Amino acid sequence: MNNHSAKRIAIFGSTGSIGTQALEVIAAHPELLSVEVLTANANDELLIEQALRYKPNVVVIGDDSKYQKVRTALEQTDIKVFAGEAALAEVAAMDIYDLMLAAIVGYAGLKPTLTAIRHGKAIALANKETLVVAGDIVMQTALEMRVPIIPVDSEHSAIFQCLVGEHRNPIEKVILTASGGPFLGRKTNYLVNVKREHALQHPNWSMGAKISVDSATLMNKGLEMIEARWLFNLRPDQIQVLIHPQSIVHSMVQFEDGSIKAQMGLPDMKLPIQYALAFPNRVANSFPRCDFKKFNTLNFDEPDYRTFRNLPLAIEALKKGGNLPCVLNAANEIAVWAFLKNRIGFLDMTDVIEQTMQKVSWIEKPSIEDYYESDGEARLYAGELIKL
Ligand code: NAD
Ligand code: MG
Repeated sequence: MNNHSAKRIAIFGSTGSIGTQALEVIAAHPELLSVEVLTANANDELLIEQALRYKPNVVVIGDDSKYQKVRTALEQTDIKVFAGEAALAEVAAMDIYDLMLAAIVGYAGLKPTLTAIRHGKAIALANKETLVVAGDIVMQTALEMRVPIIPVDSEHSAIFQCLVGEHRNPIEKVILTASGGPFLGRKTNYLVNVKREHALQHPNWSMGAKISVDSATLMNKGLEMIEARWLFNLRPDQIQVLIHPQSIVHSMVQFEDGSIKAQMGLPDMKLPIQYALAFPNRVANSFPRCDFKKFNTLNFDEPDYRTFRNLPLAIEALKKGGNLPCVLNAANEIAVWAFLKNRIGFLDMTDVIEQTMQKVSWIEKPSIEDYYESDGEARLYAGELIKL
């Protein structure tokens, strides 16, 4: 706040892995970026700490029951405090910021992000589920409102960076790289016994719990294929996934002359976060640099589609389209939640998703209300399967 020439940022999901790293990026560049909005779901302690430190205009605590506590803690400041799910969309509509960093996890990010787009705000998009659920409507609305959607997801940031200066040149295909997650090379007989602690141990990235499990099942890469389809207007057959365990090549674009561009760097989310917040500028920083002598072998391989069955399910949803990606996403959120609570096993997640995809009726061209309903229906059915 207070710096009049700085880009005014609203961080939706400021207490998460992306949100906290974004605050570090912003703090390093006060002349360029200022914090106007911070939101959290339940972590009131961290939200209060962040508010006192960064002095935003507004904070939102999702969990209503924590409103009084946050209100009292910020009494001596002029920071406005809101609470509840509806407040997220209300604040997203306010004329107090220029760019939303959409860093809420899951379906909950959709409404605030869509509201921001409808109010002409630029979007730095970490929340991939927004595009998985309603990518056609989100992208169409952004087009109509002339709102830029700048990806934060490292693979999509890589593709976006490869496309700078290539405006008129069609893409032949994109190559999304995947680390393979903590269970790379493992087979079904091993996966049947893995627990949340194993799944949360990602080799290259430290991330929130949900995306860590998605990385372990490879659902994350499936969601990212759908995300890429909408961001870059691709056909499903133009999106290839390759396992690249070193996570140095963040993704690649192949053009019609066969030339391939890659974006590379150490696996550090602060880089794509900074790129999205400062776009179109590159800003000097002191992040560690990649030394290729330490990475003198870069490997690329086919994913194991037979073992990691979530990936083919996501590809099926990508190809069939309509509300199927929305249903896949909802079932996955329920399945991951149940796995994190030790209610179901690692491989059970796939069964929940597959059966939910078969159950919920397919809608070819859903309205936004259809998406909301399909999400609810899928959650209900997936919940019944798990006996919630
Ligand atoms: P996280 O779990 O660490 O943080 C999630 C944030 O969202 C928190 O601030 C939390 O308070 C808020 N939140 C959670 N549920 C909410 C709800 N129902 N309503 C309102 N707010 C809610 O997650 P993360 O790892 O930071 O991921 C955030 C998003 O970014 C995800 O969509 C993820 O796929 C994407 N992403 C993350 C990474 C990464 O490195 N962490 C990389 C690429 C993409
Ligand atoms: Mg990613």
